[in-house]
Amino acid sequence: MTRPHLKTKQHLEIDGVDTTQLADKYDTPLYVTSSDRIKQKYNQLKQALKKHYPNIRLHYACKANTNLNILQILEKEGCHIDAVSTGEIYSAIKAGYSPEKILYTGTSVSNEELKYAVDKGVMINLDSLHEMRRLSKITSTEVSFRVNPGVGAGHHDHCITGGSESKFGIWEEDIVEAYKEAIKLGLKPIGIHMHIGSGILEVEKFRPAIEKMMDIVGEITQQVDINLKFIDIGGGLGIPYKPEEKPLDIEKFAKMITTEFKKGLKKHGLEQPTLALEPGRYLVGDSSIILTKVNDIKENPFHKYIGVDAGFNILQRPAMYGSHHGVVNATNPQNAGNYIENAPKKGVNRKAEIAGPLCESGDILAENREITAQEGDILAILDAGAYGYSMASRYNSRPLPAEILIENGEPRVIRERETLKDLLTKQKTK
Ligand SMILES: *Cc1c(COP(=O)(O)O)cnc(C)c1O
Repeated sequence: MTRPHLKTKQHLEIDGVDTTQLADKYDTPLYVTSSDRIKQKYNQLKQALKKHYPNIRLHYACKANTNLNILQILEKEGCHIDAVSTGEIYSAIKAGYSPEKILYTGTSVSNEELKYAVDKGVMINLDSLHEMRRLSKITSTEVSFRVNPGVGAGHHDHCITGGSESKFGIWEEDIVEAYKEAIKLGLKPIGIHMHIGSGILEVEKFRPAIEKMMDIVGEITQQVDINLKFIDIGGGLGIPYKPEEKPLDIEKFAKMITTEFKKGLKKHGLEQPTLALEPGRYLVGDSSIILTKVNDIKENPFHKYIGVDAGFNILQRPAMYGSHHGVVNATNPQNAGNYIENAPKKGVNRKAEIAGPLCESGDILAENREITAQEGDILAILDAGAYGYSMASRYNSRPLPAEILIENGEPRVIRERETLKDLLTKQKTK
């Protein structure tokens, strides 16, 4: 079932908590996250994979959502981290992750960043030969390589991270040489990694990449004297945002991935390395909603606009990728049935655009929606847990919003709302 943490009674509820009361108490715009939903997603995926192969490791790709409390929820479940910056390494360590549990997958990485990662003792996943050579001047540590397997997939061109048009990783034809040179330089390569893209909902889209990966692994182990301890096949597991989208079939996914993986191991006579995955969106994407208040409603011959207090400063994905996010009227959830099981679904006379408060024509959160609203109603923007807050900005000089976590049916502030004063910190005048 999708979004089991959301239900409608008189109002929209998240884990049994009335969202309109949350909006009253903590003001809007407001991020609200279900702790239980994150745990559920993590454990479902982990168990599905473990059924087929014992050595499974999940790294949460934390760029999706770096709130310390969310990092901590996953840490307690036994999750590892994929970090893409020193800021993420810093945050993960602050949240309680031991450095051995952190994989640092940077791109265009500076020497200072490499030094930071080495100092902290996190595993570095190298993105280029140049980076490898620079690292070898600092340390002789264990490393892994990100390979571009020549295939990619994703929900938007910007989110395809494998194949000929991607800046990431070391091209497959150069990867064997990379391992050979790393050893010559004194580094100890013990892993291999790929990440082909994001927002993938079809199991079969992953198959060519994993097949290719296992062939690459075979080639490396044949030509280089190393024992790969882990094979990391990245993240990219999608979630359904649109009503007509079906969730990724996680049981099928786990079976396909592990079957191809084991086939590859057997073919190349390999031991039992750890199979690592790096889901970001899949673990946290549907766990959060944004509560936003209706300020203004207007109509012209072409459109009806419902003006709310959240724009692409709060949620960038619609403006940046043309992404769809479900919108439910939390005060009067008569349209919620599009997104929430057993919720009412009433048609409307005129569809509406949900428009933000930013002075930009592109500041439309949702287009052509079956929703009615009145001034003061609270709307919920669904599936905002991944690449929501972590991409939010202060554009138009609007303070960043507060974040609430629901744990055991109780709301808790996990980030305070910024004030106007916060907008000016670090600025200097004469
Ligand atoms: C962003 C990213 C991921 C996670 O992507 P999702 O689509 O959120 O699962 C995994 N690995 C790396 C290296 C990434 O950069």
